[in-house]
Amino acid sequence: MINTTISLNRGTYKQPNIFGYYGNYGGAYIPEMLHRNVEELKERYLEIMYEPAFQKEFRDLLRDYVGRPTPLFYAKRLSEKHNTNIYLKREDLNHTGAHKINNAIGQVLLAQRLGKKRIIAETGAGQHGVATATVCALMGLECIVYMGVKDIERQAPNVARMKMLGATVRPAASGSQTLKDATNEAIRDWINNPNDTHYVIGSVVGPHPYPDMVARFQSIISEETRKQLLEHTGSELPTHVIACVGGGSNAAGAFYHFLDELTVKLIAVEAAGHGVHSGMSAATTQLGRPGVLHGSKSLVMQTEDGQVVEPHSISAGLDYPGIGPMHAHLFETGRGTFLSATDDEALQAAFELCRLEGIIPALESAHALAALNQLRFKRTDTLVVCLSGRGDKDLATYMKNIEAPNP
Ligand SMILES: *Cc1c(COP(=O)(O)O)cnc(C)c1O
Repeated sequence: MINTTISLNRGTYKQPNIFGYYGNYGGAYIPEMLHRNVEELKERYLEIMYEPAFQKEFRDLLRDYVGRPTPLFYAKRLSEKHNTNIYLKREDLNHTGAHKINNAIGQVLLAQRLGKKRIIAETGAGQHGVATATVCALMGLECIVYMGVKDIERQAPNVARMKMLGATVRPAASGSQTLKDATNEAIRDWINNPNDTHYVIGSVVGPHPYPDMVARFQSIISEETRKQLLEHTGSELPTHVIACVGGGSNAAGAFYHFLDELTVKLIAVEAAGHGVHSGMSAATTQLGRPGVLHGSKSLVMQTEDGQVVEPHSISAGLDYPGIGPMHAHLFETGRGTFLSATDDEALQAAFELCRLEGIIPALESAHALAALNQLRFKRTDTLVVCLSGRGDKDLATYMKNIEAPNP
């Protein structure tokens, strides 16, 4: 199952070519000051990641600290409603409440082997910041997290968590004061501290090798799903895998071991905000054009003259004007189906999951659930929905909308 080779051609669905391209998207567009860091990472990440001692430490922590494998839960009442079979991959049950910790552990272990003492990260919803702060506390490393001012306001519990865990939270006050701006600040920090610092990117974005590295760390999701489906259904393959996409890491992880199984439909759900064409949206594949953002070529929401457009989503984790290059390639080739759900549709889907299954999902994950209403399934289909995180961090938003009309 483990493949450490990098292909010379245009890359595959799973893996970029040696220059970090998935088809037309990817690469490493970086300032000269970062060249050595990114080059070092590119030279060493596969060798380090697949060292037996690394794999043992990574997998032991996933089991004993994170609580993996996460359950694959048959959602009976939700299945009845859609007249099909729906399994939820419970990433919400991970330590710290989302899939982000899988990648944070992997990258911090890798940073240690590269001799880095200082860890920086960007965060939107705060889940990646919390995950990184958690792992840094566990390993005794300094941790600085950049976060947009607007996100600091709307994700106050996660800001408190990061501080309790000993991290420094630095506000990003430029632009829309959300994830894109926090990422800019983190890149600036890395440029100023190239020797002792590792930048833990929280999604399948950034310059090569980040998208591939993060996808590999998150691929534990689909690795487990295959085994669990076999136990539940007698087959390792579902008919559909559905995941929300901000940058695309939970989707990349949920899709990974199904990318080459062409019978499995891969459905990615973006945030449509107030509506795809409302000017208040984050539906990148619908609105974006090829461009370079945060170190790689991908689809980017931008104006005619290439200025990045401020995105909007009710969920901070999806409020990003780009998408990882793997997903841009899945979109362009048609291997992935890209849908979108509005803020209201996501809220409705979240309230519905609470009542049908007793699970309060993250607002991000609720976008994946909302897509169930846009598709027709057969009674015999087997769907896996990646429940990327839990809703504790979103309680304030849920409280504000609890009077919303119910289905
Ligand atoms: C961060 C986050 C996302 C979006 O990030 P991806 O890289 O697209 O997975 C989705 N769900 C939750 C719960 C998150 O915290």
